[in-house]
Amino acid sequence: MIDRRLLTKIAVPPAVFLLTLALAAAQEQDFSKVQIKVTKVAGSVYMLEGDGAGNIGASVGDDGIVIVDDQYAPLADKIQAALKGITDKPVRFIINTHYHPDHTGGNAYFQKQAPIIAHDNVRKRLENGGPAGNGGSLHFDAKPAPKDALPIITFDHAVTVHLNGEDIRALYFPAGHTDGDAIIFFPKSNVVHMGDDFVTYGFPFIDVEAGGSINGMIDGVEKVLAQVPADVKIIPGHGPVSGVDDVRPYLAMLKATRDAVVQALKEGKSLDQMKQAKLLDPWKKYSGDFVSADAFLETLYNSLTGQKTGKFIKHN
Ligand SMILES: [Zn+2]
Repeated sequence: MIDRRLLTKIAVPPAVFLLTLALAAAQEQDFSKVQIKVTKVAGSVYMLEGDGAGNIGASVGDDGIVIVDDQYAPLADKIQAALKGITDKPVRFIINTHYHPDHTGGNAYFQKQAPIIAHDNVRKRLENGGPAGNGGSLHFDAKPAPKDALPIITFDHAVTVHLNGEDIRALYFPAGHTDGDAIIFFPKSNVVHMGDDFVTYGFPFIDVEAGGSINGMIDGVEKVLAQVPADVKIIPGHGPVSGVDDVRPYLAMLKATRDAVVQALKEGKSLDQMKQAKLLDPWKKYSGDFVSADAFLETLYNSLTGQKTGKFIKHN
């Protein structure tokens, strides 16, 4: 069992999410020390961060607040207070980038104030729970969320919220980080919230067991880069405000590692052989305590071969 203090020590924020999935209500996490940091991104968009949970984007203006993601339930009061520090206006809508609990944990709290909008699959996954992970060493069971945490407005392709003089557009990108990813564009402010399709903590977590895939993630990131101005500000799912110059090397890494595994598969290599050959060594600077090179190799292998669980692979 992982202890929260250990997580703080090794500073692996996304592990907090995995810890939540793994332990669910079994163990209370201590959020009392977490402080919410507010950063002005550009135009009318702010970013709220709290101890590695998913970054919150906030459009703030005369009409009120539209937030993108809402972190963990125990942080909701602090998020509310941080928003009050920016404006007295009410929250009008909440958009979820995907179903993971470090992005949707505050849903029940905030939905008392305003409706939550998300892709159809986010609602389904929150409602039903189910397996999550990379099909290998990262595996967790997501618990069904309470009814009041379920997005009451869902969309299948795209939805636009016209508030604060901004056409806030949530666009669905299939099978990337999960099968319910939305990337949120704030065109007037020139900001994009990429959810967990772009993160700065190293090799990304791809929830292959919840319909995510390496090819979908690459496709989504490419499409975003193709439609944003060069000076756009990018809010990653986790990490500091970034730009196109941060996303390009990340995309290049995704493609190159994918291609390396495709080539190894063509040569008939097994996952174990790829691990032994340290196939991802050229990209080892991306290897983290959360998604190690081996864990990312499993992710790529399982995604590219359609394998869903480590067990399945082992016994076939
Ligand atoms: Zn996520």
